[in-house]
Formats: sequence, C-alpha cells, structure tokens
Amino acid sequence: MKINENINYDFAIIGGGFAGMVCAYILAKEGFKVALLEKNIQLGGSLQIFSRDKKILDTGLHYIGGYDEGQNLNKLFNYFGLKDTLQTVRMNEDGYDYISFNDGRKYAHAMGYENFISSLCKDFPDEEHAINLFCCKIQEYCHRFPLYDLNNNIADGYFSEDLRNENAWEYISSITTNKTLQNVLAGNNMLYAGVKEKTPLFVHALIFNSYICGSYKIVTGGAQLIKQFSKNIRKAGVDIYTHKQVTGATFGTDNKISQLLFDNGDKISAKNYISAIHPNETISLFGAKRFSNAWVKRVSRLEQTISAFLLQITFKPKSFPYLNYNIYHFFNDDVWETINYTEDNWPLGFFVFTPVPLDNSEFAESISVMCYMKSDDVAQWKDSFNTTTHPSERCESYQAFKRQKEEKVLAKLETLFPEIRNAMLNVYSSTPLTFKDYTASTDGSIYGILKNSHSPLASMLQPKTKIPNLWLSGQNIVFHGILGTAISALLTCFEFTDKKELLNKINPKKNHIQT
Ligand SMILES: Cc1cc2nc3c(=O)[nH]c(=O)nc-3n(C[C@H](O)[C@H](O)[C@H](O)COP(=O)(O)OP(=O)(O)OC[C@H]3O[C@@H](n4cnc5c(N)ncnc54)[C@H](O)[C@@H]3O)c2cc1C
Repeated sequence: MKINENINYDFAIIGGGFAGMVCAYILAKEGFKVALLEKNIQLGGSLQIFSRDKKILDTGLHYIGGYDEGQNLNKLFNYFGLKDTLQTVRMNEDGYDYISFNDGRKYAHAMGYENFISSLCKDFPDEEHAINLFCCKIQEYCHRFPLYDLNNNIADGYFSEDLRNENAWEYISSITTNKTLQNVLAGNNMLYAGVKEKTPLFVHALIFNSYICGSYKIVTGGAQLIKQFSKNIRKAGVDIYTHKQVTGATFGTDNKISQLLFDNGDKISAKNYISAIHPNETISLFGAKRFSNAWVKRVSRLEQTISAFLLQITFKPKSFPYLNYNIYHFFNDDVWETINYTEDNWPLGFFVFTPVPLDNSEFAESISVMCYMKSDDVAQWKDSFNTTTHPSERCESYQAFKRQKEEKVLAKLETLFPEIRNAMLNVYSSTPLTFKDYTASTDGSIYGILKNSHSPLASMLQPKTKIPNLWLSGQNIVFHGILGTAISALLTCFEFTDKKELLNKINPKKNHIQT
C-alpha cells in the first residue's frame, strides 16, 4: 500500500510486531487516525511464520497462557475481537510442560494450582511445604503487579517497588535444598532466557502463573493470530503499511518529530509517534543527541537476552505423534547453566514443541526445537543480511555451520525420540542472524533487554522519551511474550487514553473499576 502523504495521522507506529499491532488497535478504537509501519512483508515481528513442505512453521509463538475464561489474556483477546474467531487448543491438564533430564527422569507442570501442587507432591513427597510456598509466592507476585489482573487499582504505578529486587534462583534455592525440585521449579526458564544471578523473581512469577492458569496453543500459531488481528486492526480504521522501513526523521524547532522517512524515499507525518521496536534501534533511527545523554548511555549498556538456534523438522505423513505438551529437556544438572554452553557441549538443553495438526489427527506435521545460541557464535557472518524483503544467500561457510549445528541438535533429540530420523521429511534452521534481520533486535536477542534483579530500574523503560511527541512500546517496556507485550502496549496507550475507562472496556461489565 502506497503511503498517503496527505493524511495527517494522529499516530504513526513504527514496528508491526505484536506490541505495535496492539497499540494500533487500541488507539484506533479510541477514535484516533493511526498508521502502522512495518519493514517486513508480514506483520508480526517475532511471531512471523514461514511455510515449508506445505506446512506452516512458527518462529516466536509456541503457546500462550492466561487464556482460560476470565483470565488476563482471554480478556485482552476478547477486547481485540479475537476470542470468538481464533481456533485454539487447550494443552494437557496434567502436564502442559514437562521438565525432563537425560537420565530419563521427567516431571510434569500440571494446569491449575491444585493440580500443579498435587502432581509435584507425588514426585517430591517430602517437599510439600516448599511446593506450597512456591505457589503462594508466585500468586502473591501476580496480585502485586497491578496491571496483570487488568482490574486492579493502577493508581500507584504498574509495579510494587519492593518486588523488583528479589532474584528467582535465590528464592527457589531458599525454599528447598532438593536440587531436582529446584530444577523442576525453574525448568521453564527458557521462556524468558533466565540468567541465574540476574533474573528477578517477578519475571519467573508472572510468566509461570499465566501458563499454570491456562495454557493453549493457537492452531497455525502466529499465522492465524496475525491474520485475524490484522483484519480487526484494519476494520478499526488503521492504515497498515508493510515493506516500509523507517530510516530516519525530520524534526521541528522544539525537538518534535515532523515526519518519518522511509528507505524508498516515502514520508509520513503524524501528531504523535510510537516506536515499538528495540530501544537501541530507536536511538539509531532518531539520533542519540535527541535523547538525554544519561538515557542513551543507560539503554545502550543494558544487557540483552541471549539469542537462539531454532531447528524445525517437517514429518512424513502419520510418522510422528502430536504432543499436546511441551518438553524442556536438559543434558546438564543445573537448568540455569544451560545458557553457559561451550562449543563442545552445545546444546545443554532445549525446548520441544509440536504445532497442532491441521487435520486434527494424532500425528504431528512438524516439530520445533529451540536451543540457546549466542550472537558471537555467528559473528563472522554478522555483516550479511537475508530477509524476504532483502533476499541474499548467505555464504557456504554459514550454510555448513547451520548443517553442523542441525546435526548436533538432531543427535541429542534422538536421545528423546530414537525413531525421529525415520519420520523426517526435511530439516530447516534459524540462527541469531535470522532473528536479528527479521526483528532488528540487538544481536538477535530473543526477548530483548534482560531484566536484572541487581539493577531493576535500569532494565525497565518508561514509554515517555525526551522527544516530546515520541513514545516507546514493545517487549522492552514491561516484559515480553504475547501477554507481556500486550501489557506493555496498554501502558503506552494509557498516555493518551483514560486508563480506567480503557480497562473497563477490556474487563467484563461486572468487574468495572469505580472512578
Ligand atoms: C523463538 C521465540 C519463541 C517465542 N515463544 C513465545 C511463546 O511461545 N509465547 C509467547 O507468548 N511469546 C513467545 N515469544 C516472545 C514473543 O514472540 C515476543 O515477546 C513478542 O512477539 C515481541 O513483540 P514486539 O512487538 O515487542 O517486538 P517484535 O516482534 O520484535 O516486533 C518489532 C517489529 O518492528 C519491526 N521493525 C524494526 N525496525 C523497524 C523499522 N526501522 N521500520 C519498520 N519496522 C521495523 C520489525 O520488523 C518487527 O516486526 C517468543 C519469541 C521468540 C523469538
């Protein structure tokens, strides 16, 4: 779609990932004229999909949490007009996630707190007290995060200050000395790329709680979500411009942005701008001098979550069972150390997921295996670039690197599924370069800025910027994931809407907040 330079938009939103989409939808619903600008052909950012062997392969959407009736994501999806049309599958009640180890031990994370507790108490009969403490603590954290329930009193900011410093690993180690239980309670830390000494307990709590409370897979994953949501966004009146990379801006006298500039020479004007891309990219788009020195220094020094190597295997028909659960599998004895691999022992663990089969059969069409991978591992090809908008074959040495890593993952995957090679049709893989090129996140970081319990305020950004008509949104503001980015987008939209009225629209009538 060609940019209509004659429209003076209320908002131009840079980045058509989930956060940009949510901001666009909310602001259009609130009566603003909005343009959504995305550099790739597809919207969705980390949620993009691709198709191989007539199967849809997902990149950054495996499962969602908090999706049972009345729960936070369910309410949000209802407000986004998605709930009635989106086809989802509830994951296994008695084990939506399994934490497994190379010696064959396997532990379920069951859905619902009662179920979760009774299932773990069977595995760890002497640890009932610790398991109960853990569950109470997780729930306490969620209740103290005002935006999480979407109907709390949000007058005092979005996060209780005293909760920011507690470290997830230290807390779990303090409630039990049983190393296996410690590993099981932290075994899903790939959901946020946890770092032992740094990850705050609130990150673990908010994410864990949402999955305990209602884990679902979306049929065709990101494909369906993005298709349905773009339809609703357009219907709300948003002009969506894809294949439009913002490359800079012009400014007025008061440091206000006058226009955004695109790689193809197009321009767009708006009263307000929202940057829903990585903050380091925001700085390079607008120029460091437009922000305060202290802010630029702080943001550019923040550590990023690690990147990933994603192996995707397509299957021959009816050759591999569909798993209505995920597996976090470990080859080491400390789940927090999976991130500290060496070239020889990589990967120390992985996340295994099968998408919902389209024919409703009991057989999977494909499987995704996600392993941590540092951007340094692909540093020698960092100057190459390859996306569908700017295709260019990366060199043979990179292809050989990928094949070698694919083989390493496959060999380890065979310890879990000895027959998997017989079922395979083809193997595909993505590296940190893929994530970097498609989303422009620093070093291909999978979840953006790493939250740090030692300097919690430094790793939390506010939507407001020094540029008077520029705000930030996206996974780097509050936290990542579908739920996290939706909450981040809400926080950005609160700058322009009446918070309580907006929350009333999201909540069913009986929960209306009194003003
Ligand atoms: C491998 C992986 C697995 C995941 N699994 C799950 C999961 O199972 N469940 C879950 O809830 N979450 C999951 N996540 C996290 C979730 O996908 C992300 O947190 C979320 O999608 C981030 O959305 P965002 O809009 O903040 O950022 P992004 O998705 O990064 O979107 C940013 C967008 O901005 C665009 N952009 C950048 N620069 C420009 C520019 N100059 N001009 C125009 N456009 C630009 C990018 O192309 C991109 O589309 C996963 C993520 C990854 C990577």
